[in-house]
Amino acid sequence: MNYKDKLEKMRASIPLTEEVECPECKKKFYDEWNLVSLATLNFCLLCANRNLDKETIKEKYNVNKQ
Ligand SMILES: [Zn+2]
Repeated sequence: MNYKDKLEKMRASIPLTEEVECPECKKKFYDEWNLVSLATLNFCLLCANRNLDKETIKEKYNVNKQ
């Protein structure tokens, strides 16, 4: 599986100028990696790592694969 390609595809569908607030820590993010994480997992990267195990994160990314 090509993880990076999936992220690239998801990133392309997210407007990069948009700020997204993490519902968990209430911080606002506008960098691409956190936006992808928020769009996919509904957590920023930090909260995703804290609240979800790696298998769950992988599964969610797979579910959102285009
Ligand atoms: Zn967060």
